[in-house]
Amino acid sequence: MKQKRFILQENELPTAWYNIQADMPTKPMPPIHPATRQPLGVDDLAHIFPRECCVQELDTEHDFIPIPEEVLDKYRFYRSTPLVRAYSLEEALQTPAHIYFKNESVNPLGSHKINSALAQCYYAKQEGTTNVTTETGAGQWGAALAYAARVFDLEAAVYQVKISMQQKPYRSSIMRTFGAAVTGSPSMSTRAGKDIITRDPHHPGSLGTAISEAVELATTTPNCKYTLGSVLNHVGLHQTIIGLEAEKQMAMAGEYPDVVIACFGGGSNFGGIAFPFMRHNLKDGKHTEFIAAEPESCPKLTRGEFRYDFGDEAGYTPLLPMFTLGHTFKPANIHAGGLRYHGAGMIISQLLKDGLMRGVDISQLESFDAGMLFARTEGIIPAPESSHAIAAAIREAEKCKQTGEEKVILFNLSGHGLIDMSAYDQYLNGDLMNYKISDDDIARTLQGVPDS
Ligand SMILES: *Cc1c(COP(=O)(O)O)cnc(C)c1O
Repeated sequence: MKQKRFILQENELPTAWYNIQADMPTKPMPPIHPATRQPLGVDDLAHIFPRECCVQELDTEHDFIPIPEEVLDKYRFYRSTPLVRAYSLEEALQTPAHIYFKNESVNPLGSHKINSALAQCYYAKQEGTTNVTTETGAGQWGAALAYAARVFDLEAAVYQVKISMQQKPYRSSIMRTFGAAVTGSPSMSTRAGKDIITRDPHHPGSLGTAISEAVELATTTPNCKYTLGSVLNHVGLHQTIIGLEAEKQMAMAGEYPDVVIACFGGGSNFGGIAFPFMRHNLKDGKHTEFIAAEPESCPKLTRGEFRYDFGDEAGYTPLLPMFTLGHTFKPANIHAGGLRYHGAGMIISQLLKDGLMRGVDISQLESFDAGMLFARTEGIIPAPESSHAIAAAIREAEKCKQTGEEKVILFNLSGHGLIDMSAYDQYLNGDLMNYKISDDDIARTLQGVPDS
């Protein structure tokens, strides 16, 4: 019998996250204060984020960090997630490669973001916080946070980019179902929002406006902490549950990946699946290849520069060492909303600089072609973000067809696309297009980077 799905029992779940910072040959450079240029410590960050998350953010010593029992309890609501051998996709491609995917779409919210939302809300609750706040674009992170806040009995306030709220109405319905207060940003509920609306009454909102409003709420509300769904080191740490499970599941399948692939927004699902395998490259002489798939219209890994830059458009955050297109870069309005971010997380940026991984860029149409083939072979409609990983996996499988190599390819299916069906409609109607970015555009936004 050909086994298709590999599942761990609840008592076989990993009990610690993997902190790759401990094993990196070059440690990530620290976040710094924009004015003083001094490195930031735990105390500088802990008035905004839960303290334990700040400790994890800067921890370069401990390779494994125990998952609190209360978080493991909530993971058991939906973990393990299946590791699946994509036999039908292999057959359609006529490739000798063995293709596996880790299905992170099977949980109450439908994306991997819940893995970190649960951890962040647990730490917030544990330190006596009553309220959490965040921003969200397309809404996957906001939905995950709303769920996790409910689970740990916290009040959640989510600022959603106004234009996305109109384009993806069901994600705010999900957040409100779990009890979160959802406000379109810019709003009149904060000073930052009022200022923006006064200047531009019809501002459509951006992650920049939403971040400023959420951070303002966190700093002006007693017992309120701010949370973030990607980019930061502690978020990638929590996501390593994906790769740690996959490691055990690949062993059940009797294989080890030659190539590990994930789509790339800020890096959390990529780090989540890649870091546990990269550990064996760093420590045990394995030679797995790591590929991050980004959109052609937001190419920070393949065409960005390594600089200190702001994490947000408005320039409110500390300066972070990252591969960036410049914090004022305005990505095209592609359907993979979760990949429209100007920079890469600090750990990933260092790994890329050190040649331990690589990026590839995928056009919107190639990603949808891949998503469509995946849906029609494996029976799962992927999130537009995840389709970038599928496209990169297909490219690798096609190379194997040329060379006859039987490589083992593992990719992360970061989410399903069931509330992105208007995007699929556009594709099926032939109305989707590609967005190319010129070198001049990138050079212009890079000029605005403080470090240039
Ligand atoms: C947010 C999101 C991403 C991108 O974020 P990363 O931090 O790079 O993982 C990818 N896929 C889905 C389904 C998402 O919701």
